[in-house]
Formats: sequence, structure tokens, C-alpha cells
Amino acid sequence: MKEEESSWLNECVKVMPIVRRGRKVTISYARTPKNVLARVKGKVLVSREVDAARLLLRGEVSTKMRRRMPKEYVIQINENISRIPETALRQQVVQYLIIHELLHILNKDLLTLSKKYGMRKEKKIHTSQFDKELLSRYNQVRINSGMKPIKNHRILEEAVNQIVSKVIPS
Ligand SMILES: [Zn+2]
Repeated sequence: MKEEESSWLNECVKVMPIVRRGRKVTISYARTPKNVLARVKGKVLVSREVDAARLLLRGEVSTKMRRRMPKEYVIQINENISRIPETALRQQVVQYLIIHELLHILNKDLLTLSKKYGMRKEKKIHTSQFDKELLSRYNQVRINSGMKPIKNHRILEEAVNQIVSKVIPS
């Protein structure tokens, strides 16, 4: 049986073809920390490889670490969100969260996040550019399902928080 969140994810992936190519994304409602509405997990592959130039030009053997983007990702949606009673409303909230997480995959934020904490602090990932992109992709999903796009990201965020605050105990 297909879960609702999987088909909602598929609609989101359609507007983000780069995610689709060669990468597998799955989704589930899950227990997440209280203030985390959604998150994406992927295993960053770290492998050692020989420093080819150094070996060939200087005859010295040394290896370096190479980090590669994961091929598989799991998006986890805070399980409390599944308790939003109205399906159509729940779908909008979940798809908004999905687009947010897919954008992190696209932006390769995972690679950044898995590095040392000190480095993470220096890269701000939720920029105004991120919000703009989020709104535009989310609107594409809305338009595809025959709904009116939303013009203002801040008000959208406010609306989502309002719905979410009813099912997530504070
Ligand atoms: Zn984020």
C-alpha cells in the first residue's frame, strides 16, 4: 500500500529534476526532536583515495579523504504532523516541508552539515535566496495540482506554523 506521504513526495520531486537524477529519496513520518518539523538524512560517503599528482610527479604516496554526496536520502516528517485532521491541509504542510528538505539536498547542504561544526556555523543555509527558491518550487507543486500560488513567503511560513502549532505540543 502506498502511503500518502510517498505520493506527496513524488509530486514534489517532479518539480526538482536534479534530485530525481540518480538519487533515491524516500519519506516517512517519524519521531523527530520536538522543534524539528522535518529533516533529511543521507549518508555522506567518505573514501580514501591516493593523491595521484603527488604520486606520479613526486613519487610520494599519500592519500586524501574524498567526500561524496549520498545516493539515498530519507526525509523524516515529524509524526505529529500526521495528526492534522484535514487531508488537504496536511498535504500542503507536508509538501511545504518536503520542498524545504529537497532544497537542502539540491544545495548539497548535507555535505556541509556533516563537516566539522566550526565549518557549519560559517555557512548560513537559510538565506533569503533559499526562501525565494522554496516559495517558487512550492508554488510549482501547487500550480500542478490546480491551486493558486502564494505570493509572500513570510505569510506562508506563518500559516504553516499556525497549523503545525495545533498538533505539536509546545
Ligand atoms: Zn532547513
